[in-house]
Amino acid sequence: VVIAMALLANPSLLLLDEPTTALDVTVEAGIIKLIREIATKYQMTQIYISHNLGLILETCDRVCVMYSGQAVEEGSIQSLFGTPKHPYTHGLFNCIPLPKTDKQDAPLVPIPGQLPLPHERPIGCTYGPRCRAFKGGVCDQGTVPYERVADSDQFVRCRRWSEIRADDLIPDREGIKAATIGDVVLQADQLSKYYEVESKGTMSATMLGMKEKIQLKANQELNLSARQGETLAIVGESGCGKTTFAKVLLGLETSTSGELIHDKQEVGGTGVQQRSQAQLAALQIVFQNPVDTLNPSHTVGAQVGRALRKFGITQGKKETKEKSLELLAKVKLPDEFYYRLPRQLSGGQKQRIGIARAFAGHPTLVVADEPVSALDVSVQAAITELLMEIQREYGTTLLLISHDLSVVRYLSDRVVVMYLGRIVESGSRDQIFEPPYHPYTEALLAAAPIADLRVKKRDIVLEGNLPSPLDPPKGCPFETRCPRKLGEICETTLPPDLMAADGHRIACHIPLDELQDVEPVFAIQQSA
Ligand code: SF4
Ligand code: SF4
Repeated sequence: VVIAMALLANPSLLLLDEPTTALDVTVEAGIIKLIREIATKYQMTQIYISHNLGLILETCDRVCVMYSGQAVEEGSIQSLFGTPKHPYTHGLFNCIPLPKTDKQDAPLVPIPGQLPLPHERPIGCTYGPRCRAFKGGVCDQGTVPYERVADSDQFVRCRRWSEIRADDLIPDREGIKAATIGDVVLQADQLSKYYEVESKGTMSATMLGMKEKIQLKANQELNLSARQGETLAIVGESGCGKTTFAKVLLGLETSTSGELIHDKQEVGGTGVQQRSQAQLAALQIVFQNPVDTLNPSHTVGAQVGRALRKFGITQGKKETKEKSLELLAKVKLPDEFYYRLPRQLSGGQKQRIGIARAFAGHPTLVVADEPVSALDVSVQAAITELLMEIQREYGTTLLLISHDLSVVRYLSDRVVVMYLGRIVESGSRDQIFEPPYHPYTEALLAAAPIADLRVKKRDIVLEGNLPSPLDPPKGCPFETRCPRKLGEICETTLPPDLMAADGHRIACHIPLDELQDVEPVFAIQQSA
């Protein structure tokens, strides 16, 4: 509707400011396709403002990278994504979980430091204090010119671009030791959560004051498990039931039937008010938007200290302050942050406080609900690495809820794909990202933009919306949108769980050997 309104005056230029940021990947893919078709038809120029490099690669012809109020690099998509020149552009690519990254062998490389405030910009190159290629006497002199790169369509604002190699901008690091995976700490067995809602009913029933109750099946017969030290990702579109599952786990809702065992205790039927202090401390959450969870009038120290006392970790003032400072150091914030108020913190610093509070009670399981999606690209890498570092140290299980499949591929050990309240596929990270796929997983993977020219993806755009959970399809939950639907059997009969490999389940009527023959959604070419 908003796109239609913007097009009413038949503009020659359309400005799109983060047009798909809050949308599911499948909806995002549909919107991108629509905008492209309209722009081609009406010969309209578009300017995208976005931090999503994958989206830019898939939609734009040219790209301009800005830093601290200046254009620092510009060029065609092919040249800038193929041979970036400016250290900041390299830094952005090193911050995002592309297929070449690996949480153990090739981890993300956060950009050090902070963006300078407009009145504190340094002399010379404004990126100088954060640049790994900074050279005194060269980079800190006068205004850095914006030069055209010879024999290229690129422009770059860097004095040393011709000397810099991409590898020079990655610090030497040893590979990171994998987290130790222990025993099962979370087990859901036929777990269901239904809500009772009033149906509109017939007119006569309404006139007689008889309102019919119907069930909204938010989670249906979920079976999943997670081990100590493991990262289990739950993915799916909004309304698939992943948030309801997290709410039941945290005690914000109680289950309707089935079992949910955490640390050998049934927690699905126990609301947060009935849980013991130890149970509350053992299950914590890192929220998507840390701003909403911090009290604006209390200092960081008071808020971290409160979590420590609430979980019975510390008693007196002195001990609480010492432990609070220890926690701040764990999340890499210096002591002076103890006295700061939330408004004095950047988005990334607020998320560090959110992580410090979540880990204050030594939890065995932390729900990470879209933990980096509200942050800038350069901050996302630092927070992702911090979460993993603390997870390794404490041996905590992470339950990652995310719609960003790049983050899921990078962080997770195992993945559960949900659709309309049911699990449609589950398996190890590699099993989920390679055939055989559930047709819904296949569409999700195809919809996710990837900021790498070498990656060639198949084009699958899902039509239609998620059906209402008040009136779900009788057979397969995905049958109204499935591009591979077989026919009547999909409409009438719930599909069986096919065991594709050890620990890899796919709920579909298509025989396994046919799913195995499906072409991979993406392939990485050796040269762009
Ligand atoms: S001018 Fe120097 S500090 Fe600035 S980006 Fe280039 S190498 Fe880095
Ligand atoms: S059971 Fe049928 S509708 Fe469901 S995913 Fe498989 S092919 Fe598609």
